Amino acid sequence: MSMAYGAPNWRVELVEAHLDLFQAPLGNPTAAEGFPECEEGWWHILDTVCIRIRAAKKAGHGSFRFAQIKQKRGTLRIYWTGRLSSRADDGVRVAIELAEARSACTCEVCGSEARLVRNGGLLMTRCEAHTNATAVVVAPGLENMHIVQSVVEGRLSCECRRYDRGSDTFVDVDPALLGIRKG
Ligand SMILES: [Zn+2]
Repeated sequence: MSMAYGAPNWRVELVEAHLDLFQAPLGNPTAAEGFPECEEGWWHILDTVCIRIRAAKKAGHGSFRFAQIKQKRGTLRIYWTGRLSSRADDGVRVAIELAEARSACTCEVCGSEARLVRNGGLLMTRCEAHTNATAVVVAPGLENMHIVQSVVEGRLSCECRRYDRGSDTFVDVDPALLGIRKG
């Protein structure tokens, strides 16, 4: 797909390029449940997540349909319905986590590298050209960090990953380096 920013119909183009995942009513892409409720700067992120989800579906099996795609508290949220094999489900989960993490450092207006800002009461992810609002302060070392705490067999377990925008991947980080007890 060629992506020229400023395209008035980018949402329609996205849905039509991935009809198998949106399952829009025939001839009516705007009626798809997952019709994007965000700005154009995240178009490329959505195109990439669609390609990854399709690959994950093929590697496993089952059904998938976007239920909602929106901006909330400044980042992308992607919801879906269906039933996938556990292998496909894992692939889809990772694809969505990567997309949501990328949105947290990508301007929703233009797609450039960006930061979370607070504009009045609203959180949004914007580059310097697209906001005058103050960046939300993140403790040094915790930028783009995703900390997942869970209880495994009665013990608290902690996983830390940093989203690396250059390679569009997560990189594991030792929680001890962040002063977090591993459990
Ligand atoms: Zn921007």
